[in-house]
Amino acid sequence: MNKKYNWSMVLVLTLIPIIGIFGTLAYSYLNGVVWHEPIVMLTGWWIAGMGITFGYHRLFAHRSFKVHPAIQFIAMLCGSAALQNTILKWCSDHRTHHNKLDTKEDPYSITKGFFHAHIGWVVEARPAEIKGVHDLEKNSIVMFQYKYYWPIAIGLSFILPMAIGAYYGRPLGGLLWGGFLRVTLVHHFTFFINSLCHFIGKRPFEPESTARDAWWVAYFTFGEGFHNFHHKFQWDYRNGIRWYDFDPGKWAIKFLSWFGLTTELRKVEEYQILKARFQGLKESMQLQYHKIPNRIESTYRQKIQNAQEQSKKIYNTWHELEKEFTLMKLDGFKDKFRKAVLKQKRKMLRLEYASVLNSLTVLLLSIKSGNYIQG
Ligand SMILES: [Zn+2]
Ligand SMILES: [Zn+2]
Repeated sequence: MNKKYNWSMVLVLTLIPIIGIFGTLAYSYLNGVVWHEPIVMLTGWWIAGMGITFGYHRLFAHRSFKVHPAIQFIAMLCGSAALQNTILKWCSDHRTHHNKLDTKEDPYSITKGFFHAHIGWVVEARPAEIKGVHDLEKNSIVMFQYKYYWPIAIGLSFILPMAIGAYYGRPLGGLLWGGFLRVTLVHHFTFFINSLCHFIGKRPFEPESTARDAWWVAYFTFGEGFHNFHHKFQWDYRNGIRWYDFDPGKWAIKFLSWFGLTTELRKVEEYQILKARFQGLKESMQLQYHKIPNRIESTYRQKIQNAQEQSKKIYNTWHELEKEFTLMKLDGFKDKFRKAVLKQKRKMLRLEYASVLNSLTVLLLSIKSGNYIQG
């Protein structure tokens, strides 16, 4: 089937990087570089990138936390500077991506190729459908942006950096560094979330999904590199679940919560993550099952069955523990001794779960390598 393209979009998305890269190079060669310009570019890139991660993605598309209206307005402005269409359209596409992942209806499905997932889908002529965003249609900040999107977006993406450039005496330098080059970077590094994050990395939670976890991709995508986890628990305000995982979006949301500016941060419990990890490992094993020789198949089935029972037992105990912990928290932790006991118990359960996951990982590796465990 011949694809139809939106040629004005093709032109715009070709000219922006050409002017951004070659225009900036030529300008810098002829006029030199002043220190303001890389600073304007890097600052603008981070502000707009965070506008997408913090605002468009985790706040508006996934509602993973609540935020003070002033911060919501700032997030809307920062996201507009990324020049990635309105919140309504972006979230409509993104929610469809999650709900219809890897199907024909997924707007940026990787199953249609890397180029399609990266930018091809943006330049294809498609009906500008907006659906599944009724909650956002009731949001006055979102609707304000929808009404005045182009003046806001063009103003912040090009006019503002040009004005900053004029302030230090080089309007064209400001426009090239802070406008064209900066928008190019924001575009393609966001596009990597749809392409690279469905292309490179591991799949610990959903082995059959195309979404992947790669810690290093997080550095290119403002912390969105843990995409297999994100597709499993899309409403979690984090993408990188370990405190040291590079995830500036998560850090900003948490930081603002200390001042009461973000509230109701949604976060999946640790034992539910471990259960999902168990399930992921089990599914990975099932995919490899055909490789196991008949003579030891029953041994493997028994081992998996045992691990399943252990996992269930630990999960149920941990679930009860968290229920009790929450009740104690509501009560202001009056019984300090019981609190310490529960914390210690939690540590033990964590170790027990890790041991079950490790034994399952060993089983999986033995199937993959062909070095079967006999007993
Ligand atoms: Zn995705
Ligand atoms: Zn998402």
